[in-house]
Parts: sequence; structure tokens; C-alpha cells
Amino acid sequence: MKHEGFARPKKSLGQNFLADPNVARKIVAALGIRPGDTVLEIGPGRGALTEHLLESGAAHVLALEKDRDLAPALKARWPELEVVNADALRFDWERLDRLPGIRVVGNLPYNVASPIMWDLASQATRFARAVFMVQWEVAQRIAAVPRTRDYGGLSVWLQSHVEAHVLFKVGPGVFHPRPKVDSAVVGFTPLPVEQRPAHPERISAFIKRIFSQRRKQLGSILGKSLGDPARAYLDAQGLSPVCRPEELSPGQIAGLMDAVGIEDVR
Ligand code: SAM
Repeated sequence: MKHEGFARPKKSLGQNFLADPNVARKIVAALGIRPGDTVLEIGPGRGALTEHLLESGAAHVLALEKDRDLAPALKARWPELEVVNADALRFDWERLDRLPGIRVVGNLPYNVASPIMWDLASQATRFARAVFMVQWEVAQRIAAVPRTRDYGGLSVWLQSHVEAHVLFKVGPGVFHPRPKVDSAVVGFTPLPVEQRPAHPERISAFIKRIFSQRRKQLGSILGKSLGDPARAYLDAQGLSPVCRPEELSPGQIAGLMDAVGIEDVR
């Protein structure tokens, strides 16, 4: 991708542009596009991934870009691209369900990658696959298992909504400007609706509450909320009030929330 005609990279928008076509091709291949598919790219930037998406056989390529300078430049370069100049942090991801089977991709701005994935993975239920490049540490948190240092609220929330995998690592040398950290590409497929939380706003509040004090024991975090039904639940799971939140799987966290009682979780 040539740099002529584009403004200087903006640090405030997390603009580390991908400058290696091989990595771009590998990310697009991971999306598994089939002829006729619709693809949404979040943060197309100068189009490092976009140009491969447009050559992929996809019927429609949509791009969501916050930068007011880049959005028209992209449209001028690729008239067939549908560019939406909007903020992914404010996007209503439920709208994607009107396009079942859509594939979503993005080399996400690192400063806002977690909230974008948090919202998208929970609000959209019918996308075929999503592939994101994120900071290496964030990728580790996304795929972390219980009783590990990286396991926390982001792991529980995302794994309650999607199947998530770390696909491959990417070093800082393939970006311009070069970031200070390693990156990784992650892949998501949505869990069937019946396996997702029935009351996402409640589980979100519960996850935030227990992981904001992750070093404490469940008994001290939950205090009086940890009544007999919750104690019985923990016991049946081979757990106890002295366990820390990071010892519970996403399913056990949902089970504990139900046992605590809906009105008590906030
Ligand atoms: N896809 C390009 C690439 O791989 O070279 C650009 C990646 S760059 C890491 C992140 C892109 O996301 C930038 O183009 C930036 O302007 C855009 N961006 C930053 N914050 C955004 C937001 N809240 N909503 C939508 N796009 C955003």
C-alpha cells in the first residue's frame, strides 16, 4: 500500500498500519471468505487488508472507519468499497444480525480493541466468523483458561459468547509506525444463541464485580450475597467460598450468579 495521498498516522486513533502484504493475506485467508460473502472491516486505515478483501471474491465489502480524513480517501481509491465514517465504539452491533453469515475483520486500534470486541461478540449473534489483530497480551487474555494469570473478565465474557482461538503471532516489524509490543491474530465464531447468557447485562455486571477484586476470596467479595443456595452451588462444583474468581470457569460463574439470585448481583 503506497502512502501518498494519506495524512500522517494518528497516534490517538491507534494508527499502526500493516506494511507486510504476506501478513495481510494470511489474516484475510483466516477469515475463510466464500464467493458472495459480505465482509465488514473495522478500521481499514490505508487499506492494507481492504485491498485483499476486495480481491477475495466477497460480494460486498463494508468498512467502518472513524478517521474523517481516511474515510473519503479510501472511497476515492476503491469506489466499490462501502465506507461508513463512524466510531466502532458507538456502533450498534445487533445490526449485523440483519446480514447473517457476515464475516468481520480488523487490525484493531489497540487502545479500544477490548471494548469493541466486548460489544461486538455479545451483540452480534449471526456472523460466520470474525478475525482480529490485537496486542499479544490481549490475545492471551481472550483465550485464557481458569487458574492462569491471564484469565479474567474479558476471557469470561468473550468465552460466554464466542469460541475464541489465537491463530498466530505477529511481530512489531511489519507495522508503520512500529508499535512497542507484539501482536496476535485471534479468530471468533459465535456460540449458538441457546448457549449464550440469557441476561447479558446481569452477567456483565457480575463479572465486573467479582474480577474487580480478583485477589480476594469469593466469600469476601460477595459477603451477605453468598447465601445457602450459592454455598450449595459452590460445594456441588467442588469449589468453596475461599476460592478466588479466577478459579471458576465461565459456566461456573454463570451458575454462581444464578445461585446468588438475580436481585443480588449488582
Ligand atoms: N487496517 C489498517 C491496517 O491494517 O493497516 C489500519 C489498522 S490501524 C491499527 C487501526 C485503524 O482503526 C485506523 O485506521 C484507525 O483510524 C481506525 N480506528 C481507530 N479508532 C476507531 C474507532 N473507534 N472506530 C473505527 N475505526 C477506528
